[in-house]
Amino acid sequence: MPQTRTPVVAGWFTEDGTGQDFRLLGTRCSACSSVFFPRQDAFCRNPGCTGGELAEVPLSRRGTVWSYTDGRYRPPAPYPSDPDVPWEPYTLVAVELAAERMVVLGQAAPGVGVADLAVGMTVEVVPGVLSTGVAAGAESGPVWTTWHWRPVPSGGTGEAGGGAA
Ligand SMILES: [Zn+2]
Repeated sequence: MPQTRTPVVAGWFTEDGTGQDFRLLGTRCSACSSVFFPRQDAFCRNPGCTGGELAEVPLSRRGTVWSYTDGRYRPPAPYPSDPDVPWEPYTLVAVELAAERMVVLGQAAPGVGVADLAVGMTVEVVPGVLSTGVAAGAESGPVWTTWHWRPVPSGGTGEAGGGAA
């Protein structure tokens, strides 16, 4: 039975299922060029801007690690979490996007822990799964998709982070 891939938040990232050109999606103000993520669709939040059209823009695929931490304990309610399932620690990364001049939070890709990260390291955004959402007794449920940050192996092209490649 095919599972339905459902974005955790609609419109925050591309979702074509292939991951070939996976991007976070923000909006850019036509008047002041400010970029917003999470996207702003109603009005420009720049207090010095008289307001312009907000158009959807893909954010840079790569950025640099600004900070990171990990969550080793289950958050209290109302965090949705099944207490009967062992808590899986996760790693949270704050990534600076140079072109957009902003920091975007996200979980690190599976298998990436704090020991694998360093401030200033180049990371790239990749499609990820937040939860398979399978209810007790059910065989399958929706696959809740999200974005993850994954370190870019160094020693390759030497490409600097933050470029809107
Ligand atoms: Zn503006």
